[in-house]
Amino acid sequence: MTSSDPNDSSSKPLAGQVALVTGASRGIGQAIAIRLAQDGAQVACVATSQENAQPVADACSAITPGARAFGVDVSDTDAVAALVKQISSSMDGGGKAGPHILVNNAGITRDQILMRMSEEDFDRVLDVNLKGAWNFIKASTRALMKNGGRVVNITSVVALTGNAGQANYAASKAGLIGLTLSVAKELASRGVCANAVAPGFIETDMTAALDDKARSELAASIPLARMGTPNDIAGAVAYLVGPGGAYITGQTLVVDGGLSV
Ligand code: NAP
Repeated sequence: MTSSDPNDSSSKPLAGQVALVTGASRGIGQAIAIRLAQDGAQVACVATSQENAQPVADACSAITPGARAFGVDVSDTDAVAALVKQISSSMDGGGKAGPHILVNNAGITRDQILMRMSEEDFDRVLDVNLKGAWNFIKASTRALMKNGGRVVNITSVVALTGNAGQANYAASKAGLIGLTLSVAKELASRGVCANAVAPGFIETDMTAALDDKARSELAASIPLARMGTPNDIAGAVAYLVGPGGAYITGQTLVVDGGLSV
């Protein structure tokens, strides 16, 4: 096998790296996990349960061997710390202990107008979307510093624009941008790059509730005249964690077909 052999995973840009992707069982996270496996990473696929993440881990393993599935509630600080320890001690991509790449993608919505939004729904969205990312970054910091790693936080275009009925969600996603900027500044001296990707409207379970009328009205308001696909987001993440992203940190890359322009 030569290095130009397309089946030689050592010639791929992320060969020898462990990529931890949260929310990897479906939608955008699934597309990111598979794309990073295609780029040669050994992927740790995290969802709310190991069973949910297993099919995507199997698909990743078929591309780059060694992917594994894990289940955790990302908002549970102690459980996340234990999980990252387990990943670090069992996955090294053939080199240093992982993770080398952390993609905080797990997220939920609990939409409601402000007057009717419960404290419970506000807290839960903040806990999963914002604290969940902080939990994984904190638990992974040592490995990321040793590996000169990359962090990508999946925020949303509504972090920049706001959205009626999404005060909790938009606040959590805006918080992720502040978290990203701070991590970028704090870890830059150790060669870690941290960025955010802000999707617009993407075809996943999260947006499946939109009816056909809302969907076509939405598409008409997007300059590129279509909703995005999970692969549109995976491509942006792959760029940021790959060789092309080596000198990019503290940025929010908006991937929304021009919606927010
Ligand atoms: P999705 O299809 O609803 O999938 C959500 C993922 O997050 C699933 O893998 C789910 O795991 C996981 N998850 C949810 N709560 C969790 C928890 N407490 N602990 C662990 N994992 C948890 O979502 P998506 O549309 O792909 O969105 C992915 C990310 O992109 C989210 O952060 C979302 O806010 C962001 N985003 C999406 C859009 C869009 O239009 N779709 C736009 C902007 C931003 P299970 O399968 O086990 O439940």
